Amino acid sequence: MNDTIEVTEAEVTALYEKIKRDAESGGYILNPDMSFTLPLIRGLAVNMKRYGYIACPCRLASGVRGEDKDMICPCDYRDPDLAQYGACFCALYVSQEVADGTKKVKPLPDRREREKAKSPAQNKVHEKLSHPVWRCRVCGYLAARDEPPAVCPICKVSKERFELFLS
Ligand code: SF4
Repeated sequence: MNDTIEVTEAEVTALYEKIKRDAESGGYILNPDMSFTLPLIRGLAVNMKRYGYIACPCRLASGVRGEDKDMICPCDYRDPDLAQYGACFCALYVSQEVADGTKKVKPLPDRREREKAKSPAQNKVHEKLSHPVWRCRVCGYLAARDEPPAVCPICKVSKERFELFLS
C-alpha cells in the first residue's frame, strides 16, 4: 500500500467546503476548531485518492467499498454518537454544545466495533409490509418505495447507504 499519497491544499479546501455545505444543509455542525478539523479533512482526501471513497480517517479501512460502506463519511454511527456523546468518533461532527464550548468532547468508544459484535439475530426485522421501507443508515430517513432514493434527501449520502428496514 502506498502511504505517500499527496493531496493539495486546493483538494482539501474543496472537500472541506463540500462536507460543510452538506452538513449545514442537513442541520449538522462541523467542529469549528480548524486546527483539528482540517487534518481530518486531509485524511478523508487521502482516503478518497487511496480507496476511491472517503473512508473514516479514524478507522482502518479494508479498501473494499462494500465492506467499508458503513464507515464512509458520514458514517452510520455519526448520529447515535452525536446524540450520546456530542461528537462523532473522530469529532469532525459535533453538537451545538460542543461547538459553543459549553461541553467538552471526551474520547469515545468505537460504536462500529460494538455493532459488528452483535449477532445477526439481534438486527433481524420480523415485520412484513406490502411495500418495503428503506432506512438511511446514516440519518435514519425512511422511504417506503420499491428502491431506496439515489441520494438521501436529508444527509446526502448515496443509495448504497440505505438498508432494507421493513419488508
Ligand atoms: S466518525 Fe464517522 S462522521 Fe466522524 S469523521 Fe469518521 S466517518 Fe466521518
